Amino acid sequence: ATPTAVMVATGVGANNGVLIKGGDALERAQKVKYVIFDKTGTLTQGKATVTDAKAFNGMDRGGFLKLVASAEASSEHPLAKAILEYARHFHFFDESSMNEDSINQREPNSWWLLEALDFCALPGRGIQCSIDGKQVLVGNRKLLTESGIEIPSHAESYVVELEEGAKTGILVACGSELIGVLGVADPLKREAAVVIEGLVKMGVKPVMVTGDNWRTAQAVAKELGIQDVRAEVMPAGKAEAIKSFQKDGSIVAMVGDGINDSPALAAADVGMAIGAGTDIAIEAADYVLMRNNLEDVITAIDLSRKTFARIR
Ligand code: ADP
Ligand code: MG
Repeated sequence: ATPTAVMVATGVGANNGVLIKGGDALERAQKVKYVIFDKTGTLTQGKATVTDAKAFNGMDRGGFLKLVASAEASSEHPLAKAILEYARHFHFFDESSMNEDSINQREPNSWWLLEALDFCALPGRGIQCSIDGKQVLVGNRKLLTESGIEIPSHAESYVVELEEGAKTGILVACGSELIGVLGVADPLKREAAVVIEGLVKMGVKPVMVTGDNWRTAQAVAKELGIQDVRAEVMPAGKAEAIKSFQKDGSIVAMVGDGINDSPALAAADVGMAIGAGTDIAIEAADYVLMRNNLEDVITAIDLSRKTFARIR
C-alpha cells in the first residue's frame, strides 16, 4: 500500500472510532489468525451485579452483607463495586426504608460499614482483611483453599449451580469458617455473539481468556460460540497465553480493557484496547476501539485487508 492508502485507511478508521497507532499496526491486522478476547469488560458489559446472596450457619443476611461490603470497601475491583452497591441497597432499603435519593446522597460515606484493618488485594483470587479481630477472606475457591479453609459440600454445590448459570461465585470466610456465598452476573455485550460468528466466517479463530473460573468461563463461551477457552489465568498469565498462540508463527490479536490486560496487549502482534478501558491498556495497544463496540474488531481487520489486498 502506498503511504497515501495508509493515511486514507487511518482516516477511515478514525471516522469510525478506530484509532490506529501507525502503519505497521494497520498492516499486521490483515494477517490475524487468532483473536484473543478478555472476558470481563470486553465480551461482557463489565457491569457486574449481585444476583444471589446466601449466608450459612444461621447468620442473618443483613449482617453477612455488611461484613462482605466492609471487607470489599477498599477494593477497586468491579466485583467489589457490585457487592458494595448490593449491600448498601439491602442495608438502607430493608433496615430503614429510605428512598433511593437519600442512599445516593449518602453514597460517598461508609459510616455504616465495619472497620476493616490490614486490607490486602490478592490478584486473581480476591481480598483479605481483618474485621473485629477476625480474618475475613472474599474471593474464589483458590483463595480459600490456599488459606486452608474447607468448602462444605452444600456450599460447593451452590457455587457450581451459580457457575453453570454463567455467574461468578464469590466465597466469604470469617475466621476459619465459610460464612456465605454471593453470585455475580455480568451481561454479555449485545453484539458479542454476532462478532464471534463474523470472525469465524472470516477465517479468524476467536479465543477467550479470563481470570474467572472454568465453569463460568465455559458457560459464557458456549453462549457466544467460542470453542477455545483459557480460564483461571492469573493476571501475569495472559501475556503467556498470547505467546503460546504465536509459537507457530501465527499473528495474534488481543482485545482487552483492563490493567490486567496490558502485558497481553503489548505481547500481541495486534493489541486492541476497548475505549472505555483503563489508560494503561490504551497505552499498551496498537488500536483503540473508541466506541466500546466489538464490531470494530471486524472493522479493524477488514480495513487492513482492504488496504493491503490491492498490492498483494
Ligand atoms: P478477570 O480476568 O476476569 O478480570 P481477575 O483476575 O480480576 O479476573 O479476577 C479473577 C477472579 O478473582 C475473579 O473472578 C474473582 O473470583 C476473584 N476476585 C478478584 N478480585 C476480587 C474481589 N475484590 N472480590 C472478590 N473476588 C475477587
Ligand atoms: Mg477485563
